[in-house]
This record gives sequence, structure tokens and C-alpha cells, in this order.
Amino acid sequence: MENKITVSQLQQVMQEAYETYKTNNEGANANYIPFLANVPSDLFGIVICLQDGRILKVGDTSFVFGIESVSKVPTAILALKQYGAQKLLQMIGADATGLPFNSIYAILLENDHPSTPLVNAGAITACSMVLPIGDYKSKWDAITGNIEQLCGSAPVLLEELYKSESETNFNNRAISWLLKNYNRIYDDPTNSLDLYTRQCSLGITAEQLAIMGATIANDGINPITGKIIFDAQYAAKITSLIATVGFYQHTGDWLYESGLPAKTGVGGGIVGVYPGLFGIAAFAPPLDSAGNSVKAQLAIKYIMNKLKLHIFNNNKPVIITE
Ligand code: GLU
Repeated sequence: MENKITVSQLQQVMQEAYETYKTNNEGANANYIPFLANVPSDLFGIVICLQDGRILKVGDTSFVFGIESVSKVPTAILALKQYGAQKLLQMIGADATGLPFNSIYAILLENDHPSTPLVNAGAITACSMVLPIGDYKSKWDAITGNIEQLCGSAPVLLEELYKSESETNFNNRAISWLLKNYNRIYDDPTNSLDLYTRQCSLGITAEQLAIMGATIANDGINPITGKIIFDAQYAAKITSLIATVGFYQHTGDWLYESGLPAKTGVGGGIVGVYPGLFGIAAFAPPLDSAGNSVKAQLAIKYIMNKLKLHIFNNNKPVIITE
């Protein structure tokens, strides 16, 4: 059975999701990074980028916000490109931690293995792996250049966020030295942590994130620029990582309810990947207790459920152009 969805139906359901949750005031901005606490809480936007490059959007889709942990996705892609899938598995791993994003306990439990590049420990390790080792400036250019290619336009560094985060990242400092202790960091620990903190402080829009999601959904070809950004074989690898740990300790609940591999960030952004169909991003700063945007989650779940798009449904979704 085919699940035929028209583009205008998709746009209408997005609009409904937006109207339904626009005034929801649950959750609170992240406050452990002072900069994030001051971002206007009522911002809300949803974007879908289809595999053919068409963009559907509603709300605050061009507001520049902190990418935060969503940055773990592009840097994991960079590590896949530079090292290949097998080495990434050996050097970082691909396991869900089932624990919060900044868990130290997860490192102690699997001390030979930071688990996955999509939690803080594995993401700091991924930053340490970015080539060329020992050359901070070139590593940074590789990280930002890769994000620019995935999104089709450049991210901007939010200097104030970077400063705010650098001054308060005590837990992450502990993580990077613990990784060093277990020989799970492959460059200078302080510089690797700094690269991680700086990539989390990049400013991005929901539209850019949706294009990044669509590039992954489209086997590594950016649907806007038409350029091949990464080898098609890595699309399923990165989507597996996203599906297993994108919502940290709530990933199972999220997948069960939404049916979409997606990655969150404490800046309020979520990017989702529907292989072969679209990338979706939603943004709203107030978070739940696990650090995931309340309204972005509700909006994506609404769209997925209303259109019966759960990734494990046996109903072959096709998007029809009228
Ligand atoms: N930069 C944040 C941290 O390391 C990212 C956390 C997140 O977005 O989940 O604490």
C-alpha cells in the first residue's frame, strides 16, 4: 500500500502543527549556558526540505540560534568522510548510552569506548579526530566548511554564546580529561574541547538545518546546491546514529512516538531525517527536563502522526507534486 501525500497537504499539516502549539508555554530555555537563557522564548518555526529541494516553511525559520548538539551530526559525518565507517566504530562507537547528553557515568561504564559521536563524550572525541591532527585552524575550517556544504550556506559563530559556554563548561572539561585518561582522545584534549565548544556555538537557522537533514535523506547530495557532500554509503550510518541516540535518554520514547530519526540541541533546534523523502527542522527555545525543545518535538510528532509517516510503517510514503 502506498501512502500518497501531496505537497499542499504537507504544507497544511505543518501550518496546523504551528497553530496548535504556537501558544504552548511549557518548558524553559536552557539556563546552564547564560546566553541561551536570554533568547526570546516565543520563537517557533518549522521547515521541511523535500528531496527535490523544495522548501516548505512556517514561523521563525530564519532566526539564527545556537546549533549546540545538532553540530554533533555534521562532525560525525566529517569523521565518517575522513576515517570511514569501520574506523569510526572502533575509535568512537555507535551505541546508545541511554543517559543524559553530558553523562560522565556513560564514560565510566564503557571506558574503552565513548559510545557514540552524538553525545558530548563521543563528540569531543570526534573533534579530536578531525584532520589534520595538531592544526587547530585547519580543523576548525574543516568543521565549518562541512556544515556549510551540508546546509548549502555558512553558519556564523555566535561569539557571545562561545564565550558564555567556554566560561561555564566545567562538566565538559572533566569529560575531555577522562577521555584522555582512557586514551579516547586523539589530539590535544584542551583544543579538542575548545573545537567542540566552538562548534556548539555556531549560529544556524531552521531552514539551514532542514537542508542539512535533506542532504542526509538524499544520500549525501545537497538538494539545493546539487553537490555531492558525502558518499552515499554514510547516509544510513549517520541516520542509524541519529535514530539510536538523537534524544539521549529519551530516544526510544521519541522514536516510538514520532517515528522519525532526529537530533536535538539545547539551543531549541531539532533536525529530522526521513530517508528518501525529506529533512525537517523545528525550532523553539523552551526545553523539557532532558534538554529537548518542547514545541519542536510536539510539532514534528504532529506532522509525522497526522500523515502516518512513522518510519516503521509498512505504507511506502510518496510525496506527490500537484
Ligand atoms: N554545548 C552543549 C553542551 O555541551 C550542548 C548540549 C546539547 O545541545 O545537548 O552542554
